Amino acid sequence: MRKCVNCGRYTLRQDKCPVCGSEVRVPHPPRFSPEDKYVKYRIKAKEASQDQG
Ligand SMILES: [Zn+2]
Repeated sequence: MRKCVNCGRYTLRQDKCPVCGSEVRVPHPPRFSPEDKYVKYRIKAKEASQDQG
């Protein structure tokens, strides 16, 4: 999967964008953070559900 640097369209082509013919590059995925803000909330929700058991 590549992304056009010009129009931002994703394509499977590796040479150029099929839409505008511009250069395509591999989009960098967002860096995964081990300190997920929502982990705390997930754990709390899990504990709460167990209390109801
Ligand atoms: Zn394009």
